[in-house]
Formats: sequence, structure tokens, C-alpha cells
Amino acid sequence: MTEHHGACHCGGVRLTLRETPVDLGDCNCSLCRRIGGLWHHCKLDQVDVEGVETGYVQGDATLTTWHCPTCGCTTHWTPLLPDYDRMGVNLRMFDPALWEPLPRRKIDGASF
Ligand SMILES: [Zn+2]
Repeated sequence: MTEHHGACHCGGVRLTLRETPVDLGDCNCSLCRRIGGLWHHCKLDQVDVEGVETGYVQGDATLTTWHCPTCGCTTHWTPLLPDYDRMGVNLRMFDPALWEPLPRRKIDGASF
């Protein structure tokens, strides 16, 4: 099984991703453009998160964006809607060899 390991800068939050991304979601919404995250979207069961994270819920409360309380890196988001089984992983927490060559898929989050 393919596993990719990522972490925030201080290592307090660690991510294990069990699938290989094929592109990068680059979202222009008010939060993502500040964070600068590059997202891989996947089923919840494809990711393990270890460590202690701090959550941030914005505006329409559809998801929680998680960051490390020590170093501040945004690591992932998880859904708040009960029927939504997908999440986003910030690929910037992983080795650039995994994601730097991938095409960027623009997500127009600012418009909805
Ligand atoms: Zn950290």
C-alpha cells in the first residue's frame, strides 16, 4: 500500500495519506488565499491525523480548517456536514517531490 507522510513544521501534527495525488487544488476563497494551501481532496478513510490540532470554523460552517497550535501550519480540513465524507489535505505539509510537479486545478471558492 502506498503511504505518504507529512507533518507541520514542528512535527506536532502528522498526516498519513494512503493514496497518491494527481493534481493540486488551488482555491481562491477568502481563507485559502490567505493560507496558501494546496489541497488534495479525498475520502476521510484515506488519511490518518496524529497530534493535537486547533480547529477554525468560518462563515457558513461547512468545514473545520485545522492548524498546529505551536507552529501555525494549516494541515487539513474536515467536513461538518453529516453526509459529506470527503476532506482536504494541505499537500504543502508533504515532501515537495510528491506534489511540486503536479498540475494546479483552480477552485473558484470565492464565488460560492
Ligand atoms: Zn507544528
